[in-house]
Amino acid sequence: MGKGITSRGEDYSQWYNDLVVKADLAEHSAVRGCMVIKPYGYAIWERMQAVLDKRFKETGHSNAYFPLFIPKSFFSKEASHVEGFATECAVVTHYRLKNDGTGNIIVDEEAKLEEELIVRPTSETIIWNTYKGWVESYRDLPILVNQWANVVRWEMRTRLFLRTAEFLWQEGHTAHATEAEAIEEAERMLDVYAEFVEGTLAVPVIRGRKTENERFAGALDTYCIEALMQDGKALQAGTSHFLGQNFAKAFDVKFTSKEGKLEHVWATSWGVSTRLMGALIMAHSDDQGLVLPPKLAPIQIVIVPIFRTEEEKQAIDNYVDTLTSELKARDISVKYDDRDTQRPGFKFAEWELKGVPLRIALGARDMANGTVELARRDNQTKETVSQDGLTDHVVALLDEIQEAIYHKALTFRDEHITPVDSYDEFKAVLDDKGGFVSCHWDGTVETEKRVKEETKATIRCIPLDVQDEDGVCIFTGKPSRHRVLFAKAY
Ligand code: AMP
Repeated sequence: MGKGITSRGEDYSQWYNDLVVKADLAEHSAVRGCMVIKPYGYAIWERMQAVLDKRFKETGHSNAYFPLFIPKSFFSKEASHVEGFATECAVVTHYRLKNDGTGNIIVDEEAKLEEELIVRPTSETIIWNTYKGWVESYRDLPILVNQWANVVRWEMRTRLFLRTAEFLWQEGHTAHATEAEAIEEAERMLDVYAEFVEGTLAVPVIRGRKTENERFAGALDTYCIEALMQDGKALQAGTSHFLGQNFAKAFDVKFTSKEGKLEHVWATSWGVSTRLMGALIMAHSDDQGLVLPPKLAPIQIVIVPIFRTEEEKQAIDNYVDTLTSELKARDISVKYDDRDTQRPGFKFAEWELKGVPLRIALGARDMANGTVELARRDNQTKETVSQDGLTDHVVALLDEIQEAIYHKALTFRDEHITPVDSYDEFKAVLDDKGGFVSCHWDGTVETEKRVKEETKATIRCIPLDVQDEDGVCIFTGKPSRHRVLFAKAY
């Protein structure tokens, strides 16, 4: 392929890696499993953060910050939580290095920490230990706090953005007086995520509940949004957990209710991470490079002048000056690529690779005719349009592109939800076309595990809008009350 990107048909996973690196989003670092997010990639992440942060605040949350390190003893306080995270923890044991006398720098064994510190894989424990000091009565509730942070999970198989050992995320941690209020919060934040991923990333999602086997360690219920990538694999795009009173009990967080009774506090936590960058890339991009929905594109429109003489360039410059100020006044981010070190064809390919939604090209003939050439990145179509009313036209076009990208992904996703009623069909669909397979399951962890061993497919979720329907489990033939969605997943 041109520009050195492997095509999706040839090797999807190589295509993804090529794209992330060539589009300047991120690269592998010297540290195993950890990536460097480059400025262009980080600019997209910052746009995601801005939109989400605004929504969190609109739904009543405030940002705060808690320590990177968690004393080991905190982790042991909630049994299922420690069990879930134990196998992927980075542990700090010493606080000093020394010269061994021969010029080698070694760990100073005398500087051993009395209690080891865990680099946070998630912050429930340190936060609930803190909330103990914040809550006395019902008047102190709810606590609606979010933290933007990095976390570390020592993942064995890593992929840029999708699964890294260190990743950036936000984690909301809320405390409530009643069970109903906590469940409502967990559901509300799932909706915030779903609306964000669909409305801003233009990636359709299925809202659902995780099975016991896939539930967050320490949660009573895990809600999730599941997206489908172009290779037919699912991706968990966000989670929202109803934690019950587990952490309040582990950290002794009680409040006096209105009725004067001492009760444990109810909790939720919810998070999305830089994995969303992976979802964005895998859901929309093509063999020419990145396809960015306008709402997330750091550059929404690139303008490329085509000229032979200085006079031609001058005339184009003057026009572009006016055009860019009009566009900026409409909150459109625009770049005028008038580098004289590269030819227009090179620039076209570069901005295509970087996923800029709209390209405006104009030369001497356009200036004479009062036109420009508009090229859409999403469907690669071009049109010549009048310079009159151009700003209104492109503002509307950007909305249209956002919609088109979403609908393309939605059509693909809907074509890849296949109902099946037998295990043979189930395996055939997974092998032939992938995607979500909707089928009956007997509700046991054992069956879920056996199916995973045999097919690599896991239950992605029990959709929130699932219909009651009598059926039999495709694997054991035992009775089942509703269908679930299986898929191979990232
Ligand atoms: P969890 O705390 O396990 O519910 O995960 C919270 C969010 O982080 C979910 O949206 C996950 O998809 C995402 N996530 C979990 N592990 C990783 C990882 N290793 N790299 C990137 N994102 C992750």
